[in-house]
Amino acid sequence: MTAPSHPRPQRMRTSVPAVLALGSNLGDREATIRAAVADLDAAAGIRVEQLSPLVETPALKLTGVDHHAPAYLNAVVVIDTVLGPHDLLDVVNSVEQRHGRVREERWGDRTLDIDIIDYDGRELDDDRLTLPHPRAWERGFVLAPWHAIRPDARLAGHGPIAVLLAATTDDVRPYPDSGATHDAARAEQFEADEDGGAV
Ligand code: ADP
Ligand code: MG
Repeated sequence: MTAPSHPRPQRMRTSVPAVLALGSNLGDREATIRAAVADLDAAAGIRVEQLSPLVETPALKLTGVDHHAPAYLNAVVVIDTVLGPHDLLDVVNSVEQRHGRVREERWGDRTLDIDIIDYDGRELDDDRLTLPHPRAWERGFVLAPWHAIRPDARLAGHGPIAVLLAATTDDVRPYPDSGATHDAARAEQFEADEDGGAV
């Protein structure tokens, strides 16, 4: 077969799925997370496919769990994006800044943190970006809301998130006012945890 003589039309950039985790422990946490999700959906090249239920977790500092710090609200969004991973990080950082994120202490209190958890299963490590997010595999506040909306998801290099979630002992609670439906099995587990006291 001979090659076509006319130039091929430029291919549309195909979108890929990605998973973002949002967290807030200052100000009106729920309003911030919901506004950030709307901002992400409005950003060029990003479509928010699904928002997880909100969960509440005690603050985690470099020194461990800090019950004196305000608790976090966390959520996960599954998006479709035509942006490359670094362009996606630029958008994520600009949404953080729009919501008053101030970078002071590492893992310090913040109005909004958005992390890229997974980008189409890619593994990558450079000075700006590590994929998948290097601590996602052990973070209940990422795995629980992600599992609630994508129970069959896998984390590149780590395997099924259901297995990873089962191994966590983080104190992750459904956020009562979110109005979202929780995954039934996970909700039962939350209740069992509450009956059995702290883990
Ligand atoms: P943390 O999320 O660990 O609390 P920050 O939000 O302050 O910390 O992020 C610090 C830096 O981490 C960012 O400037 C960003 O360049 C880098 N980073 C590396 N990998 C990722 C990722 N997967 N998602 C978001 N940021 C990342
Ligand atoms: Mg971050």
